Amino acid sequence: MTSCVFCSIISGDIPSKKIYEDEHTYAFFDISQVTKGHTLVVPKHHHKNLFELPESEVSHVFKTVQKVATALNKTFSPAGLNLVNNNGEAAGQTVFHYHVHLIPRYDQADGYQAKWVEHGAEYTEEKLEQMQTQLISSLSSSH
Ligand code: AMP
Ligand code: ZN
Repeated sequence: MTSCVFCSIISGDIPSKKIYEDEHTYAFFDISQVTKGHTLVVPKHHHKNLFELPESEVSHVFKTVQKVATALNKTFSPAGLNLVNNNGEAAGQTVFHYHVHLIPRYDQADGYQAKWVEHGAEYTEEKLEQMQTQLISSLSSSH
C-alpha cells in the first residue's frame, strides 16, 4: 500500500464515498464534511501540488470540478459554493496529493470561513507597478 492516503483511496485500498470517477480524475466526500456535500476532486496520478501538476492534467481536474459542482448545486441547492486549493504546508495543505475542495455554502454559520484582511493601503501605485513588472517578467521567461 502506498503512503499517500489519496492514492490509496483511488486504488481502493482505503474506502471512500466516491461521487465520480473517469480516466483521469476521482471525486469523493471529504471525511470532515465542513459543510454538507464537501467534496474533493483529485487527479488519479500523484502530483504534490499545483506547482507540480502537469499542464495536461489541469483541464481534466477542472472539468471534473465543474461537473461535480453542478451536481452539488442541483442536489443540495446551496446558496453558493467555494473552491479551495491549499498548496504547501504554510497554506494549510495536509495531504500532499493535489486536490480541490468543493465546499457548498448555505449561510455564514455553515462551517466554512475564510478571513480576508485588506492591505491595499500599504501598497503605493509605484510599489504595485514594480510588482507588476516583476511578475510579467517571470511570466514571459517561463515559456
Ligand atoms: P488539505 O488540508 O487541503 O490538504 O485537505 C486535506 C483534506 O483531506 C482534509 O479536509 C481531510 O478531511 C481530507 N481527508 C483526509 N483523509 C481522508 C479520507 N481518508 N477520506 C476523505 N477525506 C480525507
Ligand atoms: Zn497520491
